[in-house]
Amino acid sequence: MKKVVKIILWSVLVIILLLGGLMAGFIYKVKNGFPVSYETEAPKLAFPANQSAVLLFSKSTGFRHSGSIDASKPIIAEMAKKNNWFLVETEDGGIFNAEQLAKFSTVIFNNSTGEVINDEQKRALEKYVENGGSLMGIHGAGDNSHHWDWYVQNLLGAEFSHHPLNPQFQKADVLLDSQPDSLLSANMPSKWSHTDEWYIFLENPRKKNFDILYTINGDLIKPDGNVSLLVSDKNFGMGKDHPVAWSKKIGKGKTFYTSMGHDETAWKNENFVRLIENGIKWTQVKK
Ligand SMILES: [Zn+2]
Repeated sequence: MKKVVKIILWSVLVIILLLGGLMAGFIYKVKNGFPVSYETEAPKLAFPANQSAVLLFSKSTGFRHSGSIDASKPIIAEMAKKNNWFLVETEDGGIFNAEQLAKFSTVIFNNSTGEVINDEQKRALEKYVENGGSLMGIHGAGDNSHHWDWYVQNLLGAEFSHHPLNPQFQKADVLLDSQPDSLLSANMPSKWSHTDEWYIFLENPRKKNFDILYTINGDLIKPDGNVSLLVSDKNFGMGKDHPVAWSKKIGKGKTFYTSMGHDETAWKNENFVRLIENGIKWTQVKK
């Protein structure tokens, strides 16, 4: 074989191996989070006496939804100002200790993906919610990179399967459920149009007694999340009753999750922003 042909063939092989390695690394990170690092020291914080405290936690070790996370911060800061909340925006997992958590009315996993806190910190968050605290999750907070049973059972009520890739972003009518919580649905339309990356879960959280706030008609989206040569079992959807926002009372506390919010365009949609504001307000009402 001519030397030049050999060089070309070897180059092609090296490129294929490199791309394959990069793809495998990316898939591992999305499924498990990497690199995993935990902060264990409690940050210094002074909580004002007369304000509800809201923790906006945006740490990710899995897929990073940078556009959405960056867009959310000024909007939630504005919301906090309007509602007189003391907002703590951080990626420091050291804040997940019993003493500091107890001071928050709401903890938000803001597109937080991967394993972001250690076992002891997870137990502190579980106790905090069961004793009357609240946990909210936005979009990526619901993917399958967290590897945390309590979190899946109590925030999501269902295991994430995949999201459509062909195409990834699709427009759908977001439909208010028949008996929505009045606080969560306050000033919200019964139907609005929204484009997002629609998460598909393996079961319907309605079956686990979660209160569904909004659905889309899953029969009207293309659920295909297959990747040629790599993934071939992800071409199914949730059917007509495809929840996209839901809540539950857990012990003395509450959880609220929406699968919407993949990128910055969500934060430009007034209905999505109001949904998040209503969610925070709802978590602050103790029942
Ligand atoms: Zn996403």
